[in-house]
This record gives sequence, C-alpha cells and structure tokens, in this order.
Amino acid sequence: MDIIKIKKLEVFAKHGVLPEENALGQKFLISANLYCDTRKAGRTDDLADSVNYAEVSQLLKESTQETVFRLLERLAWHLTQKILVTYPQIQKVDLEIEKPWAPVLLPLETVSVCITREWKTAYLSIGSNMGNREQYLKQAIAMLEDENTKVISQSDFIETDPVGYTNQDKFLNGAVVIKTLYSPEELLEKIASIEAKLGRERKIHWGPRTIDLDIILYEDEIIQTEKLTIPHIEMTNRQFVLEPLCQIAPYAIHPVQHKTVQELRDALK
Ligand code: ATP
Ligand code: CA
Ligand code: CA
Repeated sequence: MDIIKIKKLEVFAKHGVLPEENALGQKFLISANLYCDTRKAGRTDDLADSVNYAEVSQLLKESTQETVFRLLERLAWHLTQKILVTYPQIQKVDLEIEKPWAPVLLPLETVSVCITREWKTAYLSIGSNMGNREQYLKQAIAMLEDENTKVISQSDFIETDPVGYTNQDKFLNGAVVIKTLYSPEELLEKIASIEAKLGRERKIHWGPRTIDLDIILYEDEIIQTEKLTIPHIEMTNRQFVLEPLCQIAPYAIHPVQHKTVQELRDALK
C-alpha cells in the first residue's frame, strides 16, 4: 500500500502523569504514516481522490489538544482511532508521539511511543434459542457497532436444530462480517460484554442461551491461547456456522485448512 507521511508535527499540549506537565504543558512531536491507495489521485491529479494531509495535520493538532491524557499510549490510541474513523480510505496508521521535553531528569534526546493500528476484517457467528431470538440477534449486531467496529454485512437468520445438548429449543443462527480496530483479545472482551448485557448465562455446556457470539475468523490469523482459538475450533463441523457465513463470505479462507468457507460448507453436506 502507498504511504502519506507526516513528520514531527509540533503541538503544544498538557498530557502527562505529573501535575507540572498538566499545568505548564510541553511540546509534542507527532509523526504519522497513513497507508492508503493513491492510485486514483495519481491518475486524476485531484485532491478529492486522496487524503488531504493538511486536514489530517489539523485533526491531529485538535485531537491532541481537546483532551488531557496521562499517558502517551492513550493519546496515541486516541489519535489513530480519530484518523481511521474520519478517513475510511486510510487502512492503517503508524503513529509516533515524541516528548522532547519529557521530565526524566537524565540526559536524553527524546522519548516516544509508536503504535500501529489497522482495520481488520473478522467473521462472527451468532446464535440464540431463548425468548425473542430474532430480537436478541438484532440487538447484538447493533451493539457490535462502536467507535472501533463497523458491521459490514450480515446474513439472513436461519433456524437450526440444537447440537451437542439436544434437549432444548431450536436456534436462530446468523453470521456477521465486521471491520474492527480491536485485537482478537479485545474483540473477545467486547463480545463477552454484549453477551452479559443480553443476559447470557452459562449453566449447561452448549445449553440454552439468549445470545452466543463467537469469533470464527480474524483476518488470516491463527491463535491458540487458553482463552481464544481462532479459527473457531468447531467451525468446520458446523452447518449452522458455515451456512450463514457462506452467504456473506463464501471466499473467506480458513488459514489452516486453506479452504474457502464455501468449500468447507459443501464438504459438510
Ligand atoms: P462453542 O465454543 O463450542 O461454540 P459455546 O459458544 O457455548 O461453545 P461459550 O461458553 O460461549 O461456549 O464459550 C466458552 C469460552 O470459549 C469463552 O469463554 C472463550 O474464552 C472461549 N473461546 C475460545 N475461542 C473462542 C472464539 N473463537 N470465539 C469465542 N469464544 C472463544
Ligand atoms: Ca458457540
Ligand atoms: Ca461462545
């Protein structure tokens, strides 16, 4: 991808852990790599087809001064989020914030924090078999949307028989594609909080639930930790996951099996 670079934009602001920093303020130097496609602007010579770096610099200045944070880490997250949400054509941002006057009482040139944030595509499956199932699914999808997440598309809801623990009502299942700035772990926290707000209880393993949200795929990442397995460990065995997912993402690829969702679904039939 192409990069538009802003180097060492000077902004006076009051971030810091120390009271003097919050009272007196100091100089911050902000640098950003904006990853975007400049091909169209390269052909048309029209600023409207590119990212206006004067505007981004202004946004960085205003966003740096509008709120006082203790940590550069927090400010960096805030700034990358502002850029990525304001400019959909920017896919990824590397951001560095330097604090040349940092009060560390030792001879150094500068301290800085560098972060990279990027829109990631994730595929979720969603199910309910208690109460007003459709309402729960719709509410959960609406709750996915926040300043770090956009819902890109959603499948139809399909009715399916319970699997694993069969002495329970039928399910309504669906799939959702999102773009998110959350890491997989942050996304897991986000879906757990949605489940909690919608009254999810865990009494019986694979038992009745108002709502269940699972991360099926997250880009082409392969993750295996105590809390998280991606791709979802059961995805290839589940019609109720693959059928709705196939509607909206037939060509998404399972990064371990190297097969598309459509191929995996057809193999189950
Ligand atoms: P299943 O995971 O077989 O679909 P379930 O959805 O009913 O069963 P839960 O009780 O909702 O299981 O989740 C149990 C734990 O699974 C969660 O606390 C979470 O830490 C873990 N987990 C591991 N990988 C994933 C993933 N890809 N998506 C969601 N949860 C996951
Ligand atoms: Ca599940
Ligand atoms: Ca789950």
